[in-house]
Amino acid sequence: MNEKDVPALLALFAQQSSENALLIMDPAGAIVWCNGTCERLFGYPGSELRGRPLRSLFTPEDADKRIPEYELHVAAHSEDVNNDRWMLRADGSRFWATGNTVGLRNKEGKVTGFAKILRDSTDVKEQLETLRNQLKSVADSDQHKTRFLATLSHEVRNPLSALASGVEIMRQQPAMVSDTLGMFERQLKHLYRLAEDLLDVARISTGKVKLAFQVHDIREPIANAVESVSPLLAGRRHRIDQHILDVPLLVRADPIRLEQVFSNLLANSAKYTPEGGQIELRASTGAGEVWVHVIDNGIGIPPETLPHVFDLFTRGDSASAQATDGLGIGLSLVREFIELHGGSVQVRSDGPGKGSEFTVRLPLADATDRMATSYNTPRSTDTSVDAAQPES
Ligand code: ADP
Repeated sequence: MNEKDVPALLALFAQQSSENALLIMDPAGAIVWCNGTCERLFGYPGSELRGRPLRSLFTPEDADKRIPEYELHVAAHSEDVNNDRWMLRADGSRFWATGNTVGLRNKEGKVTGFAKILRDSTDVKEQLETLRNQLKSVADSDQHKTRFLATLSHEVRNPLSALASGVEIMRQQPAMVSDTLGMFERQLKHLYRLAEDLLDVARISTGKVKLAFQVHDIREPIANAVESVSPLLAGRRHRIDQHILDVPLLVRADPIRLEQVFSNLLANSAKYTPEGGQIELRASTGAGEVWVHVIDNGIGIPPETLPHVFDLFTRGDSASAQATDGLGIGLSLVREFIELHGGSVQVRSDGPGKGSEFTVRLPLADATDRMATSYNTPRSTDTSVDAAQPES
């Protein structure tokens, strides 16, 4: 074998290269020859590829932008062009092609055609996309954490400075002690709740949450939650309408955690509704589930924030703008706790200024649970009738 055999060997290489698709085009960009890999990759028999313009293998978006013509133009006027892009198969599917295009010049330097060599790198492209998404979510979560730390510092500093000025007042005006103690109590409660929420986040992320399941009427934790947020509701002059089904709604759940869930939802409604707002609390049952809705006519949630409200450290812009307290962890705890109970929580809002609706769904306790529980009707004010044992 010597140098004169090389053209024939090159032709064999072009034909037999199993990874590289090779196309030869005339100066106008019509395909005149292609190898077997090219047929397989694009899904056309060679007879259908020959004579076809190169642009027909490009995606419609790239063809509209005249990328095929640009590629040949650059190849004709400079060195070869690297081109990595989506290309189109005969069946309309796409693959990520990496390769380059070369202008073929004769001795006089005149372009007599083009050669394009490419390979299917879809898997590499997909791996890169996955990596890019992972990097982005790490960066996002890092950014969330940084914002969270800034908010946390404010959240801790505000009650601390209130406590510090309280000490000063007591020192200078001993008669004010009892008023100041009330403020101390409120601020300490706030700090305590903050610490509890943070501990819950840590417990959830390390899988160390303990739930004390018991069969009970979900109206109890709902009533407790209403009671615990009532100072907030009264302070902001909100009206609360309750439409709670007048029968025990038995669930197998941790009543303390459920109270925490409903308090969070109600406190949010109170915070994100301008003073004098309207809050509605509904509890009903259907299809083996209890449904609890917390509805307000407040500031609402923009569509772009809706999918993220349950994510840890998410605080809506409007929340930050209004400098309401909160760390962006309340709704994430709501979702985690409800899901740990086999339920789900959803949010609905028609957008800014249109109010919000949160819906919690939990499975009703099943018949075995009901029978195993010596259940007593909890609230004397209710004209409650056990659905399983109608009054005779
Ligand atoms: P935060 O501590 O900020 O209240 P949450 O996790 O409880 O944290 O809520 C996350 C974000 O969801 C809030 O910052 C707010 O933008 C939005 N949000 C929650 N509840 C409501 C509501 N009832 N109305 C309007 N926006 C709400």
